[in-house]
Amino acid sequence: MTTTTPPATDRAHKAAKRYIYAWGAGAAEGNGRMKDLLGGKGAGLAEMTIAGLPTPPGFTITTEACNDYFSAGEQLPNGLWDDVLEAMQAVERETGKGFGNTSNPLLVSVRSGAKFSMPGMMDTVLNLGLNDDTLHGLVALTKNERFGWDAYRRFIQMFGRIVMDVKAERFDHVLDAAKAKHGKDARDTDLTVDDLQALVAEFKKIVKTDTGRDFPTDPYEQLDLAIKAVFASWFGKRANDYRNSQKIAHDLGTAVNVVTMVFGNMGDDSGTGVAFTRDPNTGQNELYGEYLTNAQGEDVVAGIRTPAKIADLERDMPEAYREFKRIGEQLERHYRNVQDLEFTIERGRLYMLQTRDAKRTAAAAVKIAVDMVGEGLISEAEAVARIEPAQVDQLLRATFDPIALKTAKRVVKGLNASPGAAVGRAVFDADDAVAWVNRGEKVILVRIETSPDDFHGMAVAQGIITARGGATSHAAVVARQIGKPCVAGSADLVIDYASKGAACARTGIDFKEGDWLSLDGTTGDLYLGQLPTVEARFEDQPELQTILGYADKIRRMEVWTNADKPEEAAQARGYGAQGIGLCRTEHMFREGERLEIVRGAILIANAATRAKAKVAAGETLDADEQAVVAEFDVALGKLETLQQGDFEGIFKAMDRLPVVIRLIDPPLHEFLPNLEEQLVKVTQDDQRHEDGKGSGAAAEDRDLLRTIQSMHEQNPMLGLRGVRLGLMIPDFVKVQTRAILNAEIAVTKAGGHPIAKIMIPLVGHVNELAATRALLEAEAKAVEAKAGVHVDYKFGTMIEVPRGALTADEIAREAEFFSFGTNDLTQMTFGYSRDDAEGGFLLKYVEDKILPVNPFQTLDDAVAGLMKIAVEKGRATRPDLEIGICGEHGGDPESIAKCERIGLDYVSCSPFRVPVARLAAAQAALTNAAERDK
Ligand code: ADP
Ligand code: MG
Ligand code: MG
Repeated sequence: MTTTTPPATDRAHKAAKRYIYAWGAGAAEGNGRMKDLLGGKGAGLAEMTIAGLPTPPGFTITTEACNDYFSAGEQLPNGLWDDVLEAMQAVERETGKGFGNTSNPLLVSVRSGAKFSMPGMMDTVLNLGLNDDTLHGLVALTKNERFGWDAYRRFIQMFGRIVMDVKAERFDHVLDAAKAKHGKDARDTDLTVDDLQALVAEFKKIVKTDTGRDFPTDPYEQLDLAIKAVFASWFGKRANDYRNSQKIAHDLGTAVNVVTMVFGNMGDDSGTGVAFTRDPNTGQNELYGEYLTNAQGEDVVAGIRTPAKIADLERDMPEAYREFKRIGEQLERHYRNVQDLEFTIERGRLYMLQTRDAKRTAAAAVKIAVDMVGEGLISEAEAVARIEPAQVDQLLRATFDPIALKTAKRVVKGLNASPGAAVGRAVFDADDAVAWVNRGEKVILVRIETSPDDFHGMAVAQGIITARGGATSHAAVVARQIGKPCVAGSADLVIDYASKGAACARTGIDFKEGDWLSLDGTTGDLYLGQLPTVEARFEDQPELQTILGYADKIRRMEVWTNADKPEEAAQARGYGAQGIGLCRTEHMFREGERLEIVRGAILIANAATRAKAKVAAGETLDADEQAVVAEFDVALGKLETLQQGDFEGIFKAMDRLPVVIRLIDPPLHEFLPNLEEQLVKVTQDDQRHEDGKGSGAAAEDRDLLRTIQSMHEQNPMLGLRGVRLGLMIPDFVKVQTRAILNAEIAVTKAGGHPIAKIMIPLVGHVNELAATRALLEAEAKAVEAKAGVHVDYKFGTMIEVPRGALTADEIAREAEFFSFGTNDLTQMTFGYSRDDAEGGFLLKYVEDKILPVNPFQTLDDAVAGLMKIAVEKGRATRPDLEIGICGEHGGDPESIAKCERIGLDYVSCSPFRVPVARLAAAQAALTNAAERDK
C-alpha cells in the first residue's frame, strides 16, 4: 500500500471519464434523476442541495467507476484518484477546513449508495480523517474533549470492522466492559474521557493483533482504503444474496459518497435521527420516526439507547423540529411521494443526510395514494400506478389479530414465501396431513423441505413451513400457486421426522405432532398456539375501493369472474366483477344427490344414444331399448330441473350482467369411480366368494366396471370431452341448453334481466361448432315454442385448441364470442400435461431457467402470439366479436398486461382475484398508452 499525499495539482492523469459529481453551496453537478450513475443516495443529496436544503458538502464517485474498478482487476481507473483529490480540495475550500489539517481538520463519511437501496450491503464509515494529531485539533476547536475521543473510538471501531475486516465482537466486548464499569444499565454516554482514551488504545491494539498492521494514520490512505472497501462490498456475499433475492442486476455497481461530517454527538443540543414524512405502517399523514440526542450515525437503529419519538423533538429542539417538518413537507411536494429521511442536528443546526421514497405496507400504500390525490399532489393515474397488484392481494388476505400477536410466542422466523395467516395442528408428513384432514382436523404441514411427493399434503394443509429452501423453493412456488400461506427456509428450526417433533435452538421453543401452530406467511413468523385471525373484508376498506374506482375509470378491459355458484357470483360482484366469464356447469354435477343421477345416466348413455338414433332413422325399439331410453330420459329430466335451479340463482345474482355458461367439458369417466378401485372391489368380492365368505361381486358393480373400462382412454385430456362429447352424446348438452333458456325465461318473468351466453369448449374445427350450433338452436326453438316467448342468448366458443386459434376466422362465422381457455391452450401448445407437469418437471425447468416462468402461471409469449392471431382472424370475420380470457391467467397481472396488448375485451378470474385484476388492467392500459406515446 502506497500512501498518496496531496496536493496533486499537476493533473497528469486526469481520468478519461467523468467519475465525480460534487455538491455544495446550494449547487450540484448531479441531480435526482441520475440514480443510475450516482446511486439513490448521491442523487438524493444532489437534488436536496439544488432545492436549497442544508446538506453537508461532498461528492459522489459514480457507479461507472465501480464497474471500471472491477474490469481493471480491482484497480482504481486511471486518473480517478487525482480527481478525488481535486474534489476533496473543493470540499476543503467550501468548509474552510483541511483534510489531515491538525488545527482545523475536515472529517468525512464514506457511504455506499446503489441505484436500489440495499439494506445491509455495506456500512458507512464515519469520522474518517481522524488520527492522533487531527484529533487534538478537533478537541481544541470544539473545546469538547469527550466529543473528540468519542468520535475517534467510533472511527477506529467502524473502520476496523468495515474496511479492515476485524470481527465486530472484538470491539463490542471491550466497549461493553468499559460501560459495565459504570453500572449494569450504563449507556455509551456514561463513558468518560478517560474511558474513551483507554478504548482508543485498546481498539488500536485489537487492529494490530488481528490484521498484523497498524491502524492507518494517513487520512488519504484511510480514504483510499475506504473507497475500495465500498467497491468491494458490491460483490460481498450479503450484497450478492440480496440482489439475487430481489432480482436486481449484478452489473449496476455501487457509487461512493464522500460527505463532510456533521456531528450529532456534540452534546444535548445535537442529535441524529430517521423519519418518514408519513407513517409507513398506516399511511397516517404525520411525521413518523425516532431520534437520539448526543448520538451519531446508526445509534438510532442499532438499539444502543432507546430513541425518542420524533414528536418529542418539538419539545427538545423546537426550532430544529420546525425546520425539519417544513423540509419534510417540501421534499414530499418535490418528489410527490412519501420520503424516508436521515438527518443530524449539530449544535442546533439541522443537516439532511439522505432522502428516498419510503417503503410502506400495503395498507399505507393505498391510504397514501388516495390522500395524495385528495391533496392534489398526484393524479388518479399516478395513484393507480403506485400500488402493486400483490399489495391488493395482501389486503384481501386474513391476518392475525395484532393484539394477540403482542403476547404470542414466536417459535421461529423464516422467509415470507406466500402471504396469509394459517392456523392448524402440526403434522410432519404429507400422508399424515391428508389423514388428519379427513378426520376433520386443520393442519400445518412442517417439512425440512418439500418435493412433488408432498403435493397432496400441501393441498389439504392450511399452511406450510419448511426449514430449508428459499423464495423459489418447491414449497414457496407451489404454495403461492395454490394460494396457501407459506414460510420457507426457517433455518433455525430443527425438524426430526422420526420423533415427529421440531425445535428452535434460538428461541428454545419446541413442538410435536398435533400441537397447534399459527403461521404468518406475510411476515415469515411461526407462533405456538391458535391465534385469532382477522378476516380482511373488502367492504371495510374504503381507500382500497377508491383506488380501484380510479382504476375502473382508466382501464379499457372489463373484469369478469369465474364463478359456478350464486354465492361466488355475488361475492365477485361485490368485488366489482362485471360479468361471469366462465360458469362451469359440470361442477354442479358433483354435488350431493346429483352425482348419483349423473352416474346413472352415464352408465346407460351410450345405449340410450344408440336407441335414439334408431328412432330417428325410423326403426322401432325392442322393450329393453325402450326401457333404457325411458330410464335415461328420467335421469336427464331430474338433472335438467336441478340445473335450471342453479342457473336461476346465478342469473339473479348477476342481474343485468352477462353470464357465460360453458356446456359440459370434462371426460365422463371423471364422474365415475376410479378404474383401479372398481377393479379391486370386484376382484376382492369375487375372491371372498371363492373363499366361501360371500356371494361375489354384485351385478351393478360388474356393470360399472365394464362401463368404466369401456370409457377408459390413454390420454383423457385429449379424448372424448368438450364439443366432442356433446356431438357423441347430444342429450347432455341439449338438457343443459334447455335448463339455461328456461332459467332465463323464469327469471325474466320474475322481473329479472338475465343475459345468457352459451359457450362450447374445445373446438378445433369450425364444423364441430356448426354441428353443435344446429343441435342447440333446434333445442332453443323447442323451448321458445313451448314457453310461447322469445329467448335471447348468444352462442360462442372457447379458443383453447391451437387449431381453433389458427382457424379463428372460420370459427368466428359460427361464434358470436370467443373466450380463451389458456390452461388448455398452454397445455396443448407446449404439449405438457398440466396435471402432471406442474407438480413435477416444470418446477425444475423454472429453477434451472429452461423456462423463464411457469407458463401456467404467467401467459407464455408464444401462447399469447396464438391468441393474437385468433383475435385478428376472428375480428376480420366478425368485427364486433367479443373476446375474453377465462383461464387461470386472467387473474395474473403480467398476463393481464399481455391481454391488454392483444386487445381483449375482458379478463375473467376467480372472485378473489377480481380486485387485483381491476388494478392490473388499469396499469396495463397506462403502460400501453405510455408506450404508444413514445
Ligand atoms: P445506510 O445506507 O446504511 O443508511 P448511510 O450512508 O446513510 O448508510 O449512513 C448511515 C448514517 O450515518 C446516516 O443516517 C447518518 O446518521 C450517518 N452519517 C452518514 N454520513 C454522515 C455525515 N457526513 N455526517 C454525519 N452523519 C453521517
Ligand atoms: Mg441506514
Ligand atoms: Mg442511510
